[in-house]
Amino acid sequence: MDKQKTIVFKVSDNIKEQMIEHYKDMVTGKPPYSIFQVKEYDCVITLYESGKVMFQGIGADIEANMWKDLESHYNSRNIDEEIKQKEEKTNNKEYYYYDAIGSDEVGTGDYFGPIIVTATLVDKSTRKLLEDLKIMDSKKMTDDKIRRCAPIIMKKLPYVTFTLSNQKYNELSTKGFNMNKIKAILHNKVLYELSNKGIPYHKIIVDQFTTPRSYFSYLKQENITEKVTKITFLTKGESAHLSVAAASVISRYLFLEEMDKLSEKYKINILKGASDKVDDVARQIVKKYGKNELNKIAKLNFKNTEKILN
Ligand code: MN
Repeated sequence: MDKQKTIVFKVSDNIKEQMIEHYKDMVTGKPPYSIFQVKEYDCVITLYESGKVMFQGIGADIEANMWKDLESHYNSRNIDEEIKQKEEKTNNKEYYYYDAIGSDEVGTGDYFGPIIVTATLVDKSTRKLLEDLKIMDSKKMTDDKIRRCAPIIMKKLPYVTFTLSNQKYNELSTKGFNMNKIKAILHNKVLYELSNKGIPYHKIIVDQFTTPRSYFSYLKQENITEKVTKITFLTKGESAHLSVAAASVISRYLFLEEMDKLSEKYKINILKGASDKVDDVARQIVKKYGKNELNKIAKLNFKNTEKILN
């Protein structure tokens, strides 16, 4: 090699892995502290354990640039992702530092079990606790973690929760109440109660499930006068304010407890959701207790009922 050229730089772990893979069949040696050395006719490439890589020879430029390009490509992609994540956070952080009441519900997609709606209040005195516990949308937390965290936050946060039994749900749905109307009534109920406890707050945030217009028209249809009217409706409310996330966690916890009770009572694992497996569980219950039993433990207007009884 007449034109000796040496290029040294450090690569990321990601590129390091790729280099190992790329050169694995060409390895010609392993100098001290190196992972490998490859001697090509115009370039010697040595990758060190430290992540430093050395290119020597007249082909050093070309070989080195290929990896530099790849590295910068990865870096720019990471930066893009970081920016995106930051933007999402700041967009959603508009409400984050308010003292706010938030509400959220569970059980509306589950054939078995009640609908549970909770409102809770998170202010600057409790925000840190929720951050430390990493409270977020209950859908993003495991049931185990929810079972561990919910009792802690229920001791520290003011909250109001309401459980709509299956019997009552079935009664309402027979009367023509759709799911959104039921949700609107339940959210209003817990929000009204909590907001009248005399604890100061700036905002009331509801995880949006319908348009504000429909929400209030549902309440109007039922002549509900005890209502909360100043509401900030936010989609993905759980990430906008910890009160909504905490409300979803408390609701989910109480729902899990209800499902445990049902499982114990019927000596069968009462499944969540509305899948075919849920139908199988329901069939076994019908077989043992008769179809009227479903009225007590399931949402009869779900399509599952027809499949189960046919
Ligand atoms: Mn929700």
